Amino acid sequence: MLRANVSVPDMKLDADSCLSPVPSDPCAIVILGATGDLTSRKLMPALFSLYRNRGLPESFLIVGCGRTPWSDEVFRNRMADAIRAVHGGNLSEWQSFSNRLYYRALNYLDARSFADLARLLSTLETKHLTRGNRIFYLALPPSLYGPTALHLGDAGLGAESREGGGGARIVLEKPFGTDLATSRQLDQDLHEYFREHQVFRIDHFLAKETVQNILMFRFANSIFEPIWNRRYIDYVSIRANEQLGIEHRSGYYESTGVLRDMFQNHMMQLLALTAMEPPPRFEAELVRDEKAKVFSALRPFPVHAYDDALVLGQYAAGIVSGRPVPAYRGEAGVDSHSLTPTYAAMKVYLDNWRWQGVPFFISSGKRLSKKRTEIAIQFKPVPHAMFRNTLGAPISANRLILGIYPQERITLTFQTKNPGATVCLRTVTMDFDYHQNYSGPVLDAYEKALLDCMLGDQMLFWRQDGVELSWAFLSPILDACETCGDREQHLYPYAAGSKGPNERYRLYRTAAAPGPIAPEP
Ligand code: NDP
Repeated sequence: MLRANVSVPDMKLDADSCLSPVPSDPCAIVILGATGDLTSRKLMPALFSLYRNRGLPESFLIVGCGRTPWSDEVFRNRMADAIRAVHGGNLSEWQSFSNRLYYRALNYLDARSFADLARLLSTLETKHLTRGNRIFYLALPPSLYGPTALHLGDAGLGAESREGGGGARIVLEKPFGTDLATSRQLDQDLHEYFREHQVFRIDHFLAKETVQNILMFRFANSIFEPIWNRRYIDYVSIRANEQLGIEHRSGYYESTGVLRDMFQNHMMQLLALTAMEPPPRFEAELVRDEKAKVFSALRPFPVHAYDDALVLGQYAAGIVSGRPVPAYRGEAGVDSHSLTPTYAAMKVYLDNWRWQGVPFFISSGKRLSKKRTEIAIQFKPVPHAMFRNTLGAPISANRLILGIYPQERITLTFQTKNPGATVCLRTVTMDFDYHQNYSGPVLDAYEKALLDCMLGDQMLFWRQDGVELSWAFLSPILDACETCGDREQHLYPYAAGSKGPNERYRLYRTAAAPGPIAPEP
């Protein structure tokens, strides 16, 4: 297949006007669960990077909390190691950053610990002039979200605004509950003291540059929107393939599985961005309104015939990047008879005018051959194949691929004439590389999410109605596949390093497209 690049004008002038706004309000960031993986691998490196790029407010402080009895000094040393592991050995400006780092041991079940935290914050806020603006980041096991939010509120730490200062915000990571009922319970706990505009339900997928670009691509160009519907689109494929297994997170993953881990949140957001209507303005509430309408339009899943619409898999032993890796059931901490799915492919429909009858194939899995996230829009074939007699072969239809990872690019395939005397078609692509001719700063997803939280911008965060609609769609599926008697027969093994269970093709056969979609190289 031939490739033609898209030419992009030099972006230097434009880039300056696109730089991130710097939060002007001072802020105390309190990380609960600061001894954990998320803090080391994502949060602290993101905060340090923001600091070095002048993305944090002038006055800020960071308090890490956990049950582990660390001192400030131990915390600082651990965080320096964690940041070095991500950004390399040279930690210029570390000293001035680390002077704002503190640690407080905390018992999540004891109200006195939170009263103690409140006193510590008051003292530190006087020293660092952060004026009562507080972000509480729950980097904790999800079972602690509700109780911790209640304890924070009981200790007076949930106040929306304080005299002479700002207010509290609370940030939490997926999973937002494990089903509809638990997500509602969590929401109730959160809202005991925090109002919706203080709650930031993070989905780091949404903060990826290329994911944010989906809306720009769709709604800042006039040529795609008229064909972005059932008349021209045959099907849509959304996939997020991971090469990694479950790493050290067996405790979490065993009770979660791929549907809760990926579909309830990230995959639903990609679906919403692909399918939503244009909002009247690019504002958080309006964008989230349109996303909620997409979730409302999800056709209820055919739970009594779920083989037609869902394929679940679990990785067996195999080879990934030339390295032998164990089966899921052989991973440390995983039950040797576990029925937890690590792969799912699902066919869903949206019952609305734009998308009636267009299948959306959504798939995600662990230990697949390549890490790859993309959305493929498959257009319908030409209505009349006038070259049929000349070519004797079907003409490939156009396909648009919104690459999110690792190919951060947009690719459009189309047909052209092969040079030469005979009439021959060939498929060529037009490529736009997201970073082409751009040399300005690029924010990592957690940097963007933390920055938006400091700015109070909820555009890239889940709203509770979306969470509930997503669970309302998924919960019957989870019930059906977790309670069916022949659960094991519906869980197809696939070799680690493969493309998933072959049974996934079953979903595509019933679609307009007879073969596998978006063939993998
Ligand atoms: P960890 O399992 O590393 O736990 C974080 C901290 O919570 C631990 O360091 C521990 O600190 C404390 N903790 C663990 N178990 C308990 C318990 N039973 N009771 C009280 N405290 C406990 O989690 P992660 O850092 O990986 O993730 C944090 C949250 O973010 C989770 O909800 C996770 O689902 C979510 N998340 C994580 C991602 C990641 O990449 N890691 C990605 C997306 C979401 P101590 O013992 O010191 O109290």
